[in-house]
Amino acid sequence: MDFGSIDVRDACDDVEETGQATAKAMGTGARALATEAVHAGRDDLARQGLHAPPIDLSTTYPSYDSRGEAARIDAFATDGAEPEGPPVYGRLGNPTVARFETALARLEGTESAVAFASGMAALSAVLLVRNAMGLRHVVAVRPLYGCSDHLLTAGLLGSEVTWVDPAGIEDALRPDTGLVLVESPANPTLAELDLRAIAHACGSVPLLADNTFATPVLQRPVESGARLVLHSATKYLGGHGDVMAGVVACDEEFAGRLRQVRFATGGVLHPLAGYLLLRGLSTLPVRVRAASSNAAELARRLAADPRVARVHYPRLGGAMIAFEIHGDPHEVIASVRLITPAVSLGSVDTLIQHPASISHRIVDAEDRRGSGVSDRLLRLSVGLEDVEDLWRDLDGALGAGRGSGGLRKPALR
Ligand SMILES: *Cc1c(COP(=O)(O)O)cnc(C)c1O
Repeated sequence: MDFGSIDVRDACDDVEETGQATAKAMGTGARALATEAVHAGRDDLARQGLHAPPIDLSTTYPSYDSRGEAARIDAFATDGAEPEGPPVYGRLGNPTVARFETALARLEGTESAVAFASGMAALSAVLLVRNAMGLRHVVAVRPLYGCSDHLLTAGLLGSEVTWVDPAGIEDALRPDTGLVLVESPANPTLAELDLRAIAHACGSVPLLADNTFATPVLQRPVESGARLVLHSATKYLGGHGDVMAGVVACDEEFAGRLRQVRFATGGVLHPLAGYLLLRGLSTLPVRVRAASSNAAELARRLAADPRVARVHYPRLGGAMIAFEIHGDPHEVIASVRLITPAVSLGSVDTLIQHPASISHRIVDAEDRRGSGVSDRLLRLSVGLEDVEDLWRDLDGALGAGRGSGGLRKPALR
């Protein structure tokens, strides 16, 4: 049995240590991650006599000073900096969304962050920034999230992609390479990359690390040299399966370009979503640690189960598990009763899906299999339920997957 080359017990301990190390790494005077998660983006509230952040639903901002507005618009056109004072128009910026951006930047350890209507809108904006500079070539490592793979492979935004192994990045760089794109742990195989070595290989080309799976609780890619950190905030940052969003954490110079693209192309985040994300961040460290400890235990049990061929669980820890079964994965999906059979991840409830059928369906079958996404692979996003209840459900569904179980009664106590 290949257990994805990890000792799950160590990985589980590491989850704790990473949190503490991150707090220390933030240095004297800086606040620890758990504190930032609760307070960042809200520091002005108490002085205003507020506790919950206000939700600003304005699409436009009245002003009797049109000379002043002209100056603000000119300033935005120059460097994309957040306009001083009210934002003129909702597509230029929104105060509630800005609170979430401030908080996420603090958590990722970047100067800035720019939020979008979805993870794909965020990735599109990054590609458009580089394409507009004539840097249309992207070097990327598979696997990526299925739609990210598709966006690049289909050239929908005019990018040209070269797929490489991590060792091939340096040789693949060209004068028109605008971006190197990686995910670690990767969706859906949970393959992990040496971000520091990759950042080194990138030289002056910006490295974009999709940190959706790890979250800043487990990993802060800018500390390894990534210039851009992408999140599908739809997943762990929101954390409750009820908000769709994306965000890029980066230096202020790149953030300015992203805001200009966001303004011109319109992939803005709704203020209500901004509010929900800020609220989600406050429990992010607690959710990620609790779900990770459930996941480590489930990975351990799956690895010991003869119905399971292979378990992939990151050294970094985290709440995602990928596993290959000997039986029929479609039967497992059809047989869960407590676990939710649905694409997406990072919610408080446990979700299972079959990447070859859903999240990575859009990737050509040969490319998909070639990057380790086997037809027998299942992806489990572990939530906050009791681990014994989860195991009972998974155990029963695996029995069905082997063709020996059939439909069972709900596993709820
Ligand atoms: C879901 C996901 C995306 C896309 O995000 P959306 O919010 O669905 O647009 C990008 N990267 C990863 C790793 C994802 O899991």
